Amino acid sequence: MALPEKNDQRETGRLLVLDLIRAAGTIARIDIAKRTGFSPATVTVITSQLLEAGLIEEIIPEPSPDAKPSTKRGRPRVALRLRGGAHMVAGLKVAHNIVSVLILDFEGNDVLSHEMTLPEPRMATPHFCDTMHTAVSQACEKGGFTINDLSGIGVALAGLVDAKRRFSYWSSSLTDRNVNLGAHLDATMPCPVFLDNDANLVAKAEHLFGEGRNVDDFIVVTIEHGVGMGIVIDGEIYRGTRGCGAEFGHTKVQLEGALCQCGQRGCLEAYVGNYALLREANIMDRETPLGDVATLFKRAQSGDTMARSIFDRAGRMFAMGLANLVNIFDPKLIILAGERLSFDYLHADTVLETMRQSVVQVDAPLPEVRVHAWGDHMWAKGAAAYAIEQVSALSVREAPADVA
Ligand SMILES: [Zn+2]
Repeated sequence: MALPEKNDQRETGRLLVLDLIRAAGTIARIDIAKRTGFSPATVTVITSQLLEAGLIEEIIPEPSPDAKPSTKRGRPRVALRLRGGAHMVAGLKVAHNIVSVLILDFEGNDVLSHEMTLPEPRMATPHFCDTMHTAVSQACEKGGFTINDLSGIGVALAGLVDAKRRFSYWSSSLTDRNVNLGAHLDATMPCPVFLDNDANLVAKAEHLFGEGRNVDDFIVVTIEHGVGMGIVIDGEIYRGTRGCGAEFGHTKVQLEGALCQCGQRGCLEAYVGNYALLREANIMDRETPLGDVATLFKRAQSGDTMARSIFDRAGRMFAMGLANLVNIFDPKLIILAGERLSFDYLHADTVLETMRQSVVQVDAPLPEVRVHAWGDHMWAKGAAAYAIEQVSALSVREAPADVA
């Protein structure tokens, strides 16, 4: 199976209208025409096809209480919305020792979530695929349906993943390198499977449901065990030629600097990642090494000078990294996202102020920085959002061409 390509003009038009309806929630045909520049006749044709395919439905919106007295002789204007029941998809986030499954309807509403402990953090490809099948099946069982009721499955994988080819160069979840993982998952699952790097999928979720809704140029920086990034340009994720773009955590911030997990020196992650903070903390006390960042953070908050200095340096390094992003991309918006955001040292006012001072100074406002502390399902939701997007592309391809 190949990923749907947006090369057909008719499909592109349908997808554009479908995306617009998704972003708007509910929207009238006349407003679709205004926003897309399509003629009202074209919009009528496209929306008829989407209605016929069962992807959207017509509704008569409730008049808002402060609306002007009814226009057009009181005839209510019909609006369009997505039909949530059109499809159901699953999103999977494969973490170190757990896989999170989130099932969404076609509108993006949560149907249910499920977590399963992994038998081991790194698995050979066939074992990995079987484990994913088990996790999705368990989730479906919880909802009283089966894996055969799903229209697509999105998988968020940490590592270097070429989404278009559904190929994993390297992932912390797999013992094998250079795996044609999409084909392996196709052989295991009853519906199409879509893969991407996990930070890219967070960017996807922010664009469809989160802080990046209705923003077409933005950057998401994910802060977890490592530092990841997703880049959205003109409403699309930018992935680079090999699918290995946006490795913000491995941008260099220090010549011959600290050793990083990737084997190179001076990477941003080698200063702000969990392991980097603990490595610093444990230099002085090797006998009783500290095992978690939360304890270190508490020490810093209670005035421990050494702990404080570790977080201060991480904050300054992070600010420098963010300033580099602004200087390269000049985005409209930067979203800092993650669960670790409960530790404010990476998004404190002092960090953002240091970033502002290091950015090229012109007489125009700097990009807005929004902090989005997501719950546990952040990554899985991104994977499910990607599945919705890809299932939409397949569905508009299959939609009838001529509707009476
Ligand atoms: Zn590195």
